[in-house]
Amino acid sequence: MKKKYITTPIYYVNDVPHIGHAYTTIIADSAARYFRLRGFDTFFLTGTDEHGQKIEEAAKKRGKTPKEYADEISAKFKALWDEFEISYDKFIRTTDPEHIAGVQKAFEKMYQKGDIYKGVYEGHYCISCEAFFPESQLIDEEFCPDCGKQTSIVKEESYFFRLSKYQDKLLELYQKEEKFVLPKAKKNEVIRFVESGLQDLSITRTSFDWGIKLPPSINDPKHVMYVWLDALLNYITALGYGTDERLMYYWPADYHLVGKDILRFHAVYWPAFLMSLELPTPKHIATHGWWTRNGQKMSKSKGNVIDPKAVADAYGVENFRYFLLREVPFGQDGDFSQKALIDRINNDLGNDLGNLLNRIIGMSGKYFDYEIKSQDVAKYHQEELQEVRNIIEALPPLIEDMKWHKFLEELWQALSVANKAIDRHTPWAKMKEGKEEEAMALVALVANILAKVALMLHPVMPKTTQAIAEALGFGIDQESYAKYIDRFELLSDFRIKKIPPLFPKIEEPLMVEKKAQEPKKEEGLITIDEFFKVQIKVGTIKEAEELPKSKKLLKLMVDLGEERPRQIIAGIKEYYTPKELIGEQVCVVANLKPAKLMGHISEGMILAAKDENGLTLVGPKTSKKEGTPVK
Ligand SMILES: [Zn+2]
Repeated sequence: MKKKYITTPIYYVNDVPHIGHAYTTIIADSAARYFRLRGFDTFFLTGTDEHGQKIEEAAKKRGKTPKEYADEISAKFKALWDEFEISYDKFIRTTDPEHIAGVQKAFEKMYQKGDIYKGVYEGHYCISCEAFFPESQLIDEEFCPDCGKQTSIVKEESYFFRLSKYQDKLLELYQKEEKFVLPKAKKNEVIRFVESGLQDLSITRTSFDWGIKLPPSINDPKHVMYVWLDALLNYITALGYGTDERLMYYWPADYHLVGKDILRFHAVYWPAFLMSLELPTPKHIATHGWWTRNGQKMSKSKGNVIDPKAVADAYGVENFRYFLLREVPFGQDGDFSQKALIDRINNDLGNDLGNLLNRIIGMSGKYFDYEIKSQDVAKYHQEELQEVRNIIEALPPLIEDMKWHKFLEELWQALSVANKAIDRHTPWAKMKEGKEEEAMALVALVANILAKVALMLHPVMPKTTQAIAEALGFGIDQESYAKYIDRFELLSDFRIKKIPPLFPKIEEPLMVEKKAQEPKKEEGLITIDEFFKVQIKVGTIKEAEELPKSKKLLKLMVDLGEERPRQIIAGIKEYYTPKELIGEQVCVVANLKPAKLMGHISEGMILAAKDENGLTLVGPKTSKKEGTPVK
């Protein structure tokens, strides 16, 4: 039996669903629907990733257990997928007992094989990204290169996966499987990364609890598995790996849909894990880009994050599905704007598709009382039929390469053949000339083109195309796909039904958008009240010492005339030795929220002036009492 196995990543429950999640999932869903229509035994998996320190902390912040918190967010994903007509066969959660058992089984197998060993990990760790970063990648020696948050040095006992052992095998895989990564161009990044040398991968943590424990046979209860090992294995545990393996015949996956930010995990670590487990590697890692909004990166702080549900509610789920797939070449970044969405709905869907259907409904009613016969189509329209056939036959490879934008663009060529045929053959004139047979052939040609377009478009717009099919008197299913697409047959005598317009014209944006922050006239100016919020005081540096491991930071104790001196961490080591600072008077921002720098609390900020000649601390010209306010 021909099978297809299609997955989305499991989504991390530290945040509610956004447009990126919707995009990946809609692509995967369209692919699954397409293969089902073609008669493939198709399994479509999505789900949620629920372990890790970030979840543990997010739950704590809300006064919930990690599981309660994960339940809540996971349910939000499920609800959204229902609304988006996502036809998944299984929704896996990494807290499912079968998943946990399967992951432990896999760990055990890799361990027994010698691919997992125990060692010590030391490094700069970003809690937010749940990743270690080499010092060379940190920003200002302490901040995460990915999210900008502060990292901390973590030294812990860890189990390692011998990723290095698989370097050559991975390169072989990339070489052999030309389309292992889609689009193909993205494979080069992966190859470069692997060629630069693979280090063994730390795959367990002892610094938090919320994760899968090691298998009982290893008996090391301090450790939980690093989320990526746990998460990636979902693709096989969902098929029952290690528990009930009846569905394992779906393996290997045909398509893992992923965003470009997690390509490396899927194209490097995942196949290496699978090689260690002696399982076949997936066929395609299909990698899409990111969505921006009106040209800007989406972020919570900018307040420009798209809520996919709000868009679907305003514009219709299926119109949104069409837009997402059509607007952007797969693999590239795309921009969301209401204008672009409205243009697609009014032009592609309304004018090209909807109007054509309306015209054919109108003509068939006016001239033929809705009864249409296809018998003379081939006689009068051989050329157009052949044109449409060529277009349709070229579509499957586009879908198989996930080139959805191209697929839709080409499919629309078939509509253009139909529209042109009407203009050229003017059925109303034919009717006047009494050439009823020719007019009928033309109406039937267009109806047949519409039927074929509806069948091909069905995976992207399931309900809309069912409505079109109903208007044209046929049903969309495997059988009709085989008949009208594969064998390219025409509809036999059929009755056209009037339906309301599918794509009413949209005149203006349907969602209220917060105005992008317009520059205020007084930009850059603050009021005196605002200034007085900052308390600046004179202080005397009493102690100064170097911070081990930091090239830039000094630890100072500064007397501000308070009960005890303040500890201030300052990035001035390149300009001052600790000795020359002692006794110096400086201006200190005294009401700054304390922050941790390299693991040390800093209770204020000293003012300094810096230009190309270096940095000078700012203090009173003549000695002042500690704590004197600066105004
Ligand atoms: Zn980070």
